[in-house]
Amino acid sequence: MRLVLFGAPGAGKGTQAERLVKEFGLMHLSTGDALRKAIREGTELGLKAQGFMDRGDLVPDAVVIGIVKEALKAPAAQDGFILDGFPRTTPQALELEKFLKELRLDLTRVVSLQVNEEELVKRILGRKAQSKEGRADDDENAIRFRFKAFAEQTLPLKKFYQDRHLLTEINGAQAVEQVYSELKAAVVGD
Ligand code: AMP
Repeated sequence: MRLVLFGAPGAGKGTQAERLVKEFGLMHLSTGDALRKAIREGTELGLKAQGFMDRGDLVPDAVVIGIVKEALKAPAAQDGFILDGFPRTTPQALELEKFLKELRLDLTRVVSLQVNEEELVKRILGRKAQSKEGRADDDENAIRFRFKAFAEQTLPLKKFYQDRHLLTEINGAQAVEQVYSELKAAVVGD
């Protein structure tokens, strides 16, 4: 299974990815998690990314593409992977396609978790209230910026993957269990 989990901020990509990892033992790469780790560790990558992330903007393509290529080259990726939060722009999607071709691999499915914006803001603010660490980009201004980035730069990828007959849409506003069972039905056998 070589899967892209696609969806707006707060749509449940991370939660669903964790469940798939638990059940199927796939490699899970969240570019958001990787960038947050780089920031915590104070690496050069983290320094490059921090300003963009704090205001809810997308980090430049070249930075995230580098992270993904490194991860996909690892032996762990050869048995299958889940990309969560990547690609988020058309250049990223094109670069991913090219790179996978070089590795003689392709994506088996892209699942879009569909949740309306009102519900998403509620979820993200709920996550902020519960979290001990807190994410700088979970404040309301940054959230709005993240939605804008999603609508303008990421949403066009739905058509990109529809054109490649890879897209499955799932109603992500349902209970976590229900979303997971529909997700599994969409990807098992891939
Ligand atoms: P996430 O945890 O997926 O919501 O990502 C948090 C933040 O990390 C985003 O708002 C972006 O600033 C940055 N980020 C994560 N993935 C990408 C990506 N594929 N392209 C650009 N920026 C990204």
